[in-house]
Amino acid sequence: KPITIITIGMAGAGKSTFVQRLNAHLHAKEPPSPPYILNLDPAVTYVPYEPNIDIRDTVNYQEVMKQYNLGPNGGILTALNLFTTKFDQVLDLVEQRAESVDYVILDTPGQIEIFTWSASGAIITDAIASSLPTVVAYIIDTPRTTAPATFMSNMLYACSILYKTKLPFILVFNKTDVQPHDFAIEWMDDFEEFQAALATHSGATDSEGEPTYMNSLMNSMSLVLDEFYKNLKAVGVSSATGDGFDDFLEAVEGSREEYERDYLPELLKAR
Ligand code: GDP
Repeated sequence: KPITIITIGMAGAGKSTFVQRLNAHLHAKEPPSPPYILNLDPAVTYVPYEPNIDIRDTVNYQEVMKQYNLGPNGGILTALNLFTTKFDQVLDLVEQRAESVDYVILDTPGQIEIFTWSASGAIITDAIASSLPTVVAYIIDTPRTTAPATFMSNMLYACSILYKTKLPFILVFNKTDVQPHDFAIEWMDDFEEFQAALATHSGATDSEGEPTYMNSLMNSMSLVLDEFYKNLKAVGVSSATGDGFDDFLEAVEGSREEYERDYLPELLKAR
């Protein structure tokens, strides 16, 4: 049975480049394992790979904007909603191919919240995850997340997606060719390291020597994150050079077991 990889990430994190590199990596594997790719971004003008199913073939997002009098975000969301009404057909196509592929890859809209916080995003995620083992790959712009406060808000966002989808989750630190991700691993492994970085960065105390509001807020939030880190895997990749993609695939295999152990029983219980 194939495993589905749902790629999610902030605009500019390198999601499309990541999917392109993963596609190339799987084609180059011995033996080759070409994935089945779904593009769910109706507004993207150029996709650097050949998707098997493309939302743009079904809905014209420019037309949707015109017809319904919408701005860009409303247009993308409505296009996704229209597409979702036909998702059972899409799922049929995916299931037909399930015998012959090892990986199904979902590329999601560039504006992350359109997928993660919409009814359509939830419907698509649940439909796929009820049919095939599924993992979320959360793509992070590593060079842009080296400041402790930025790092934490990014992790909190990832955390909210994990608890919403309840699926196996891989943090993918992308662009390691520009910025290695060892600082992130250190912060995730050792809570005190992160606190120390936070203190030097944000001014731990005010003029009276009391911890600043920001600092104590961050300290309590890092306790939440400590729990979150226990529930996920983290890998570093460069979508530019292809570095780290074997590690990523290994994490995906681990997630398959996790899906079967944790997600599937819950799913069956809910039925
Ligand atoms: P998306 O908006 O998340 O789909 O991001 P894109 O895939 O369009 O990438 C955003 C920018 O980051 C582009 O200029 C890419 O060339 C660049 N980029 C993506 N991955 C990497 C990487 O691994 N290393 C470097 N140096 N740049 C990358």
